[in-house]
Amino acid sequence: MLLRLLEEDLAARAAAGLKRQRRVVETPAGVRLRVDGREVLAFGSNDYLGLANHPKIAAALQQGVGTWGVGAGASHLLTGHYAVHEELEQALAQWVGLPRALAFSTGYLANLGVIPALVGRNDAVFGDRLNHASLHDGALLARAEFERYAHNDVADLARRLEACPARRKLVATDAVFSMDGDLAPLRELLAVAEAHDAWLLVDDAHGFGVLGEGRGALAHFGLASPRLIYMGTLGKAAGVCGAFVAGTDTVIETLLQSARSYVFTTASPPALARAACASLEVMRDEPQRHRALASRIAQLKEGLAGTRWSLLPSDTPIQPLLVGDNESVLALSAALWEQGFWVPAIRPPTVPKGTARLRISLSAEHGAADVAALTSALRRL
Ligand SMILES: *Cc1c(COP(=O)(O)O)cnc(C)c1O
Repeated sequence: MLLRLLEEDLAARAAAGLKRQRRVVETPAGVRLRVDGREVLAFGSNDYLGLANHPKIAAALQQGVGTWGVGAGASHLLTGHYAVHEELEQALAQWVGLPRALAFSTGYLANLGVIPALVGRNDAVFGDRLNHASLHDGALLARAEFERYAHNDVADLARRLEACPARRKLVATDAVFSMDGDLAPLRELLAVAEAHDAWLLVDDAHGFGVLGEGRGALAHFGLASPRLIYMGTLGKAAGVCGAFVAGTDTVIETLLQSARSYVFTTASPPALARAACASLEVMRDEPQRHRALASRIAQLKEGLAGTRWSLLPSDTPIQPLLVGDNESVLALSAALWEQGFWVPAIRPPTVPKGTARLRISLSAEHGAADVAALTSALRRL
């Protein structure tokens, strides 16, 4: 009986065009890959700067293993907090311009930890409707009242904050929306949060390494406030793995003491912290990667202007091509695949119903010829 229920769910999922399939990548991260036995040009990764297989960062990881071995052996609060973790936290805080940072194993875990550490029952969380799933899950885990405001709608948020009697309030937003590529109006959100005595948690998974010459969304907008809590991830543009939360000393100390996804998990391997430190150095030393990325973004937008394909408005490496229904987006993705392009189709529940899309993502590793090849393939389809 239980098994049959699962089988029915899986069949329904497939019938709705929602079955997910993994492809097997047979070569290291990059834009030219062999995938399921086929050579493809890939436009789907979050490795925006092309650092996931950067020789200096790979060498740092190897050197880190040489120095520190493999496992951390325990959580940070027991015996798993190594000097290189400490070094990484200091480098990260300095890089994003905040007083202190705390390293988490992943961004998902960071969001699950931060929200319940700051608010609980009788408090309230306000999240943008298009926020990443991990922010939603963190809000649910906090058992606070949870309201979703209309996407990037500062007035809607202000009305909800105004009407809310809770003692502690937290506003959570993606800085760069992961499936849309647009930016949150962080300056305005911060002003509203300050006016209503609320925290503003900024999830910069797609802005860290990309915006503000790599220093992220706060640097991009020039924002500073003791109410800001910044979450950046190290597995996307930074090309490694892991995440961190940065903010005032008081906030970070609170997380260290009480964020359950920090306290009750084994520290990530110290060698990864070594690699993440190297990634920050590469971001600082190779600013040409940011320039290359910016020109590829401009080139894609120009290349598709005036065609039947409409990109959502975005100035980030996330350039979604809106299709609508699930079957059509799968067909388009499959047609591109046939021509040697790997561009993932994104469907509900990752995006709202009826807004299935191709999520074209660009990397500093893409050459002008790569982007030109994709735009002419799309023009022909
Ligand atoms: C990817 C992502 C996360 C999760 O980060 P991981 O380190 O991959 O767990 C959180 N928030 C947003 C907006 C993301 O895109």
